[in-house]
Amino acid sequence: MIPLTYAVTLADWTPNQDMLRMMLLSLEQQTCKEFDVILADHHYDARKDVVGELSQKHSLSIKHTPIYPAPHVAKNYIDCSVFNVGWVMSEAERCVRYSEWRFLHPTVTETILNEPADSFLDFDFHNLDEKLGFWDRNSGSIDWDKVTPSPNPLVEFDEVPLNCYANNTISRQKWVEVNGFNEVNYNFFHWEDIDYSARCRHAGYAGKRIPNKMYRIDHPYGGEANRANRPCERPFKRVCASCEDLFKYVRFHILPTHKQWGDFWKAKGAKVVTKKGTEKEWVVCEKCNFVMPYVDTEDIAEYVTRETHYTKSPINVSGSGRNLEPLVKDMKGLSWSSKIDLYKQSYTNKKYL
Ligand SMILES: [Zn+2]
Repeated sequence: MIPLTYAVTLADWTPNQDMLRMMLLSLEQQTCKEFDVILADHHYDARKDVVGELSQKHSLSIKHTPIYPAPHVAKNYIDCSVFNVGWVMSEAERCVRYSEWRFLHPTVTETILNEPADSFLDFDFHNLDEKLGFWDRNSGSIDWDKVTPSPNPLVEFDEVPLNCYANNTISRQKWVEVNGFNEVNYNFFHWEDIDYSARCRHAGYAGKRIPNKMYRIDHPYGGEANRANRPCERPFKRVCASCEDLFKYVRFHILPTHKQWGDFWKAKGAKVVTKKGTEKEWVVCEKCNFVMPYVDTEDIAEYVTRETHYTKSPINVSGSGRNLEPLVKDMKGLSWSSKIDLYKQSYTNKKYL
């Protein structure tokens, strides 16, 4: 069995695919080759030929898949379910989220595999300005002499820090136990990373923060859905006209805080949903099924850490949020095309809700 999957999501499109080339060269140069790659792509059709070429060139096992969003749940700006694609479809004992605009030190794979699979390994958010000149966009290579190292030391922790930003790794079993990344709450702002860290903390996971193994290149976010810089091939369901108006209203006119957003939707007729066993509530638009957490505080860190029994991300809040455990079980051993088919129907199959 392959011990590790790099779970990559791609939203941006860069000239000559130079970012993809850099990321894959980073993988080819790993001192330990015991991994495969799942590349979940918002521009699958346009990129599939070059991904095939680069797989061969870099001798990588890359499983390329389109990103399919939920057909019945409206989103605005971002769909955080994309971060679950690689973890759900992998067969490996553990996964690491490897987001775009990042590159890796050649020893990161061996570092990961030398640690126990149930250890939560974070890679220290280290953001670099491309102007330092470390990235040759033609060859994809990194000049390590020009990479400013992180000054942070390696730290062991018994409590997962909240500022892990989700490019980390743990066994897929442990990931399933907290039900992956939150597919319900963060369809209009990010913070699925802090939510995930909080639930891993509540679940009692321990591990290490290891600097200078994964680096991030500073970049602008695209203005299209999913932060992409050109329209996604399979866009998520758009919010209805009245939700769209509310977004414009709250963003550009009175700029209320997140705490107030739920009240706006509620006042305009969104229903309030309470799930059993949680103190949390959501507002759900009756027209487009857009779901928003009914946040009662300005402090998202406080919101996600308040209930220490909050370990699993929400499942089936008006049809949003899958139960990933049975889905992961059913994926096991399927052909790649069957996995893609199962993934596509998983949002509406009652077995996973
Ligand atoms: Zn709506």
